[in-house]
Amino acid sequence: MLFGDSPAPGLVGIAKLAAQSEVLEAKRVVRYFEMESRSLLNRTRPGMPFEWSLNPYRGCEFGCQYCYARYTHEFMELRDSVDFEDMIYAKSAIGPILRRELKQMGTGKAIAIGTATDPYQPAERRFHRTRQALEVFAQHRGLGLSITTKSDLITRDISLLQEIAKRNSVSVNITITTLDASLARLLEPRAPRPELRLKAVQAIAEAGIPVGVFPNPIMPLITDQPERLDRLAKASRDHGASYFGGGVLFLMPCSRKVFFPFVEKHFPHLLRRYRENYENEAYLKGPYREIIRDRIAAIRERYGLSSGPPRREIAAGDDTQGVLFGI
Ligand code: SF4
Repeated sequence: MLFGDSPAPGLVGIAKLAAQSEVLEAKRVVRYFEMESRSLLNRTRPGMPFEWSLNPYRGCEFGCQYCYARYTHEFMELRDSVDFEDMIYAKSAIGPILRRELKQMGTGKAIAIGTATDPYQPAERRFHRTRQALEVFAQHRGLGLSITTKSDLITRDISLLQEIAKRNSVSVNITITTLDASLARLLEPRAPRPELRLKAVQAIAEAGIPVGVFPNPIMPLITDQPERLDRLAKASRDHGASYFGGGVLFLMPCSRKVFFPFVEKHFPHLLRRYRENYENEAYLKGPYREIIRDRIAAIRERYGLSSGPPRREIAAGDDTQGVLFGI
């Protein structure tokens, strides 16, 4: 019998109450697909701090309200904003394709993992596509890898990261927009709680892997207050982060479709200002970005944090072929 239908005759007490209950909300269904890919590594635009990016998944179950990557589903003619969160594509044949591409690429290249979707989103628990990529990197040398995630699932792969770090440079960027768990729940409904992310920072730092925290995107009048950012930087430092960054929210048309209704619902007093500033522009104009840049720089100085992972020179003659990395 379905909830909300007439209860079966003979039910009494809690069984009868349960049978009569109205459906408040049906559980969302996430569908996972195997996606054939011809290539995995994407060349980035000139001027980026890394030359290549790698995203083992398309779509992201974390469903952050500000996510800029929703456009990647639009390429597949999936234009409903929930499709990005509920239709997750896991790329196939990670090992063979990546091995082939790395062979063609050679050493000394910087590769960023997780630029468009989170490599440790829930799908990774079952499909291991990010881990499969790391296993390939562990057999290579002379690469500069950075991984960006909001998930403490990355701690599962710490020993693999240590193995990679023997012959390559590797660093981890953990995104924490706020320490306020209720605000994080609103902004990033299905991502791990901020305190779990901080614990991941600690575990990664204790394993000797350079790790930093990024409060990205910094959302005007929502997460940008100096005391919030200060508290986050201090907690990051206390958990072993060595660097701290920060970039201001930008809203592509695909993100506005989700973010404006979110602001209207939860921060109605800010809606007019968000509309004025982002209606026709993805990036904020005016001095705000400089104010935030200076704010972050001052906070970094206060807690002895740098702006990025340490540059690591690998001595000539060792098996990393003397390559200088700094992502
Ligand atoms: S974790 Fe990143 S990719 Fe995933 S929904 Fe959030 S912002 Fe988008």
